[in-house]
Amino acid sequence: MVRENLIKVQQKIDEACERSGRDPKEVTLIAVSKTKPIEMIEEAIDAGKTQFGENKAQEMKEKYEALPKNLEWHFIGHLQTNKVKYVVGRAGLIHSVDSLHLAEAIEKECEKKDVHANILVEVNVAGEDSKFGIKPEETESLIRQIAKLPRVHVRGLMTIAPFVEKPEENRPIFHKLHKLLVDISAKNIDNIDMNVLSMGMTNDYEIAVEEGATHVRVGTGIFGERNYAV
Ligand SMILES: *Cc1c(COP(=O)(O)O)cnc(C)c1O
Repeated sequence: MVRENLIKVQQKIDEACERSGRDPKEVTLIAVSKTKPIEMIEEAIDAGKTQFGENKAQEMKEKYEALPKNLEWHFIGHLQTNKVKYVVGRAGLIHSVDSLHLAEAIEKECEKKDVHANILVEVNVAGEDSKFGIKPEETESLIRQIAKLPRVHVRGLMTIAPFVEKPEENRPIFHKLHKLLVDISAKNIDNIDMNVLSMGMTNDYEIAVEEGATHVRVGTGIFGERNYAV
């Protein structure tokens, strides 16, 4: 099932690229494996997938340790400073940095391990109270501060769009994040790149791709519904 789903989702990404005149090579499909067992991740690996997303620090660490080392882990959940140690040195990209305080904790852990960290700044584009992420208008100033940290490298922006009935409703959100990326990129801030735009989940990844996503994070569409009750 995992293999078939991966093929189906990749096909939809390719079609969305076609519609919007993009090269499918520009879009990375991250398989969001949170709550799912190692065996299901192995099915995805057998189907050729190497990029996985997790939202809990300890769960990511455990899966990282249990699986081959040629995989790329994306940390996509809210990160508490006391959990940074599980993620730094394991995640290839941390998608969810929304404060200088957290970036500084990552810097400190990088020093300790003598590594560097690639991060995205999470933006709360829709302004939902329930969501983490910085306000769009505060994003550039946060990035300028993070840019001064020698081991933490901003690679772009991430957002979690609202849950909506019709995915089309999220198009303005994705459009706005893309514009913010382009605007900040034009400032040529030292020590940062603005090449990664992480947006789109099972419900709305096709729209996100049409609006310029370079990374889509798909869980349910690949691994099926999550069961939080067990
Ligand atoms: C769980 C999660 C996803 C994947 O959600 P699906 O709707 O299952 O595709 C994507 N991004 C983040 C940040 C998540 O926490």
